[in-house]
Amino acid sequence: MDKHNDEEIRGDTVELDSDPQAPKVYRIQAIPSKGLGVVAAIDLAPGDLIIVESPLFLFRPEGAMIYKDLLQRAFDKLDDGKKEAFMKLDNAHPETEYPPLVGIFNTNAYDVQKSDHADSDVDSPYIAVFNDISRINHSCSPNTIRLWRASSSTMHISACRAIPAGTELTTHYRDPLLPSSDRGASLLAIYKFVCACPACLNPTASDKARLRLQQSRGRLADVAAWARAAPPSPEFLADTLELLGLVQEEGLESQHVYGRVLRHLMCMSYVMGEGDGMAEGYEGYRRMLRAWRLANGAEEEEVERVEQADVEMMRAAISRRNTDS
Ligand SMILES: [Zn+2]
Repeated sequence: MDKHNDEEIRGDTVELDSDPQAPKVYRIQAIPSKGLGVVAAIDLAPGDLIIVESPLFLFRPEGAMIYKDLLQRAFDKLDDGKKEAFMKLDNAHPETEYPPLVGIFNTNAYDVQKSDHADSDVDSPYIAVFNDISRINHSCSPNTIRLWRASSSTMHISACRAIPAGTELTTHYRDPLLPSSDRGASLLAIYKFVCACPACLNPTASDKARLRLQQSRGRLADVAAWARAAPPSPEFLADTLELLGLVQEEGLESQHVYGRVLRHLMCMSYVMGEGDGMAEGYEGYRRMLRAWRLANGAEEEEVERVEQADVEMMRAAISRRNTDS
């Protein structure tokens, strides 16, 4: 078993006011030592869409001084059902620290962008709280990808690896590639818990692996860099396979580095076949990358288009190599 170790959860389902039309692929229930959490109701495959949800509450903070008053004003505008659902969410902050409204908000909010253009001026971050998605607990090796779609103002949760029925769904509250001490400090300050995941309990090897994955960004930036002289060097191939092993061992399939690694391996196996340790072969890596791209919000047509572009680039590289030799 991988050391990130997704847990199977048993226990009673807690009935909340979730959308009755929603397919029951997940349920909300008590999780040992974590309060409530969200659990897969069926076996989920990588790329499967699990939850699409509109926020209970979408709020734009403007200056810390009047944060509480702005929040209260936004809350007052909600209908009674939403107010009640919001007040049922977890509050990690005692009332002596913040009023309950602020405490619940700080415990359950996600930053989201109001538009799809992350760099535009009108795009100062909004904060969203959800009835179901805010119940998903944190993991430093999350088994889902969380994606905000500004065009529909909905949050999408998809599986980033196989999730057997009965397994708790997890997402990251803090960047999983940060060192464990940084993750731990902010999880404790904002959410008031000490993460007991394998990566936080034994951080030495895990921190090293995560730093290496973070630093591989430049190295993995461009397939075209080795495609010009395809096939890639044996060192680059070995390094890429090692990065894939680190992603899987650390449970970091939710991260962009996983998509980059898969794209390289898909292209390498197209050029070189299944040998040289690329166990999945072209079709296998293509399928894994496809699931990852869909979970990250790509449309089917878009995925096919970028796959086709890579195939054409690899064909050109192969024919250049054949002409040169
Ligand atoms: Zn952790």
